Amino acid sequence: SDWERRVRSSARVRSKTGLSVLVTGAAGFVGTHVSIALKRRGDGVLGLDNFNTYYDVALKESRKSLLDRTGVFVVEGDINDGVLLRKLFDVVAFTHVMHLAAQAGVRYAMQNPNSYIHSNIAGFVSLLEVCKSVNPQPAIVWASSSSVYGLNSKVPFSEKDRTDHPASLYAATKKADEAIAHAYNYIHGLSITGLRFFTVYGPWGRPDMAYFFFTKDILEGKEISVFEGPNHGTVARDFTYIDDVVKGCLASLDTAKKSTGSGGKKKGAAQLRIFNLGNTKPVPVSKLLSILEKLLKVKAKRKVVSLPRNGDVQFTHANISLAYKELGYKPTTNLETGLKKFVKWYVGYYDPKKKSAW
Ligand code: NAD
Repeated sequence: SDWERRVRSSARVRSKTGLSVLVTGAAGFVGTHVSIALKRRGDGVLGLDNFNTYYDVALKESRKSLLDRTGVFVVEGDINDGVLLRKLFDVVAFTHVMHLAAQAGVRYAMQNPNSYIHSNIAGFVSLLEVCKSVNPQPAIVWASSSSVYGLNSKVPFSEKDRTDHPASLYAATKKADEAIAHAYNYIHGLSITGLRFFTVYGPWGRPDMAYFFFTKDILEGKEISVFEGPNHGTVARDFTYIDDVVKGCLASLDTAKKSTGSGGKKKGAAQLRIFNLGNTKPVPVSKLLSILEKLLKVKAKRKVVSLPRNGDVQFTHANISLAYKELGYKPTTNLETGLKKFVKWYVGYYDPKKKSAW
């Protein structure tokens, strides 16, 4: 097939470091940044993405072109396609899988619950089935989510906190993935690391996320709904800049132990880890909006409305001491600096004069 020829005939997936990584969801926001970072340091990288239509496919295609120019080839396919996955492993002996393909977003679950089951549960199992049966078995790092903390009122969230009250189907599927990871680690000796990302933002970001559509709506003069919790409570997020998250992903891959092919209770048991990757500095969404107004030099038309029960929680705040201890993870970008980079990208990308460049 076409991709097979491209993969075989190019040096693109060849590794200079010994690390060879299959990145699923490579045309996604986080996947694009992680793939570029891996490629830049000489790792072997191959992307996989189904280019689904959850949001603007043109943006995914633009990210793909960027990846192409960086030397990362993205195969178009679904993680539920076990035959395709196996073929990829036949062509490249991946040492690691960075699994970022998923149905993201909490609100969309009310419209299309099946896409969450398909990608986040069935797709995750499909991937793990292939990982357990190839030789050598790769170590897996995958994106869980801060949403697993659900309706926790105790902040900051630490990895040991309860995760048994998800506020959305999305959160429930991520929580299920953590249980599935445990089972595959225990039975099949797969080395698995789950990363609970906290509201990741930055250039090439996701149009369904608040910082992105606030920017669009401010520039288009549209009214913006700012949610407020019960009793005028602040709605806040632990916004985490993409470059910080990428560093956490790379450190997770670098510290991942080999899969052992033997169950969790045996000697030399494979690793199972869960880390928060947040910024530790929650910012009210109203403040996010003020920063954007300042950067765009346009006043937003705000409308304060009470937080609907649509999957959003009121507050997120990461305790990152475990990730610091085990991964050396230390975010360094504050929201003002990160948004400045996002806005610069946004304005450039959507500039009609430059549009053809992508
Ligand atoms: P994204 O939607 O931009 O990227 C996901 C990519 O996966 C998309 O390009 C999509 O086309 C692809 N995909 C979806 N289902 C697939 C399937 N069945 N087969 C193959 N490809 C498929 O999202 P993102 O923001 O880059 O998120 C990456 C991961 O991080 C996801 O697992 C997401 O749930 C998780 N996460 C993200 C955030 C955040 O703030 N961005 C926060 C918490 C967790």
